[in-house]
Amino acid sequence: MEKISRTRIAELLKSDTFVSSVNAKGWVRTKRGNKNVNFIALNDGSCLSSIQIVVDVANFDEEILKKITTGACISVKGDLVESQGQQKCEIHAKEIEVLGEADPNTYPLQKKGHTLEFLREIAHLRPRTNTFGAVLRMRHNMAIAIHDFFHKRGFFYFHSPIITASDCEGAGQMFQVTTMNLYDLKKDENGSINYDNDFFGKQASLTVSGQLEAELAAMSLGAVYTFGPTFRAENSNTPRHLAEFWMVEPEVAFNEIEENMDLAEDFIKHCVKWALDNCMEDLQFLNDMYDKELIERLNFVLKNNFIRLPYTEGVKILEEAVANGKKFEFPIFWGADLASEHERFLVEEHFKCPVILTDYPKEIKSFYMKQNEDGKTVRAMDVLFPKIGEIIGGSQREENLDKLTTRAKEMGVPEKDIWWYLDTRRFGTAPHSGFGLGFERLLLFVTGMSNIRDVIPFPRTPKNAEF
Ligand code: ATP
Ligand code: MN
Repeated sequence: MEKISRTRIAELLKSDTFVSSVNAKGWVRTKRGNKNVNFIALNDGSCLSSIQIVVDVANFDEEILKKITTGACISVKGDLVESQGQQKCEIHAKEIEVLGEADPNTYPLQKKGHTLEFLREIAHLRPRTNTFGAVLRMRHNMAIAIHDFFHKRGFFYFHSPIITASDCEGAGQMFQVTTMNLYDLKKDENGSINYDNDFFGKQASLTVSGQLEAELAAMSLGAVYTFGPTFRAENSNTPRHLAEFWMVEPEVAFNEIEENMDLAEDFIKHCVKWALDNCMEDLQFLNDMYDKELIERLNFVLKNNFIRLPYTEGVKILEEAVANGKKFEFPIFWGADLASEHERFLVEEHFKCPVILTDYPKEIKSFYMKQNEDGKTVRAMDVLFPKIGEIIGGSQREENLDKLTTRAKEMGVPEKDIWWYLDTRRFGTAPHSGFGLGFERLLLFVTGMSNIRDVIPFPRTPKNAEF
């Protein structure tokens, strides 16, 4: 038979001219038919749709056809012809090679409609389902959208380290990195561990954020963003927290809080628009299967300005709601950190619109946030989204050396650990701002999935690091 190179199914389904001979390779989703003709749905991951392969049973060896079962990998050569069915075209098979069989008795993805919980247990195979194919293609698209957004605005992609020896941010929730023999740990007379002989000669951990390093970069390159994995050993088993997640952290010299809010809003809108422009087939599927308001919600976010509101005003609204009979699990009062239920009340019930909450009490925010003149609040901004709660956390940074060191001391951050960070305020300091967006929280929003474990290929959560 003639030699033809493989074409991706996404390409085949788009073609207007029907080339006579094509080669498709992929995994069998279903096979049905009768003793004369078989119909195979073949999927290669290039798009949601499978292509239909029509097999004239008389032309093929019975032994070969028997091996074509759900999950098997095959290569098909044949004619691409116009189809009477739902799709524009189908392949009339002339030659089929079975590249890899899948035993029907043990292949776990036999029928459609497995629960998401079951699919998490077979995370190594779930990309073969329509749902995870769609989610993973969208995950890729959001990564591209992020780079596109920042690159076009003159930001530089900056690689902050994964291993860090400063734990000023994540006290208590960091994963330690060590080469010490845990079976033979030497402690000194006070019972503390001596890190002198450890790999780095001091206590080291996986980073919880690349922000401090991004600030150094912003104070030289002007505008940068990081986009990489971050780690938090927080023992919270929620649908919105992972122990390993990806974070996008832009940091911009000379930006004040207002410009930081503009950037955050433009950034999310760019990503949402990208999804609508480039992922419609997958979006429509997720909309129909999981979240009937998904596409409507994405369009809504795109078309409306986010509400901007000080924390103090937000708390007033929540207190009024409580006075009018609204029940929350956690208490609300000025000074309290907002729980997800509070954030979602503001967004979903009160404003029915994304909200950027600003000027939080300094006690519940980090030492590096710019202090307001009231002496009580800092220039923090959290972007709160429907179904998600906090999707972005950011702030204008304190650029004044004295104020910053005083606040660090008050909050128990040792100066010796951040001497390099303080140097930016010592030498040519300037106003600057930035924020962190949880990549998987963005994915929850654009895919309509409701559990963060279902928008990352291999989720890491408490007691779970399989695959
Ligand atoms: P939360 O209050 O939801 O736990 P946070 O205030 O601890 O979040 P930040 O330190 O502000 O989060 O991190 C910036 C962003 O990173 C958050 O807005 C969120 O989108 C994301 N994020 C934080 N923690 C996690 C996590 N454990 N898993 C996934 N994303 C996270
Ligand atoms: Mn936050």
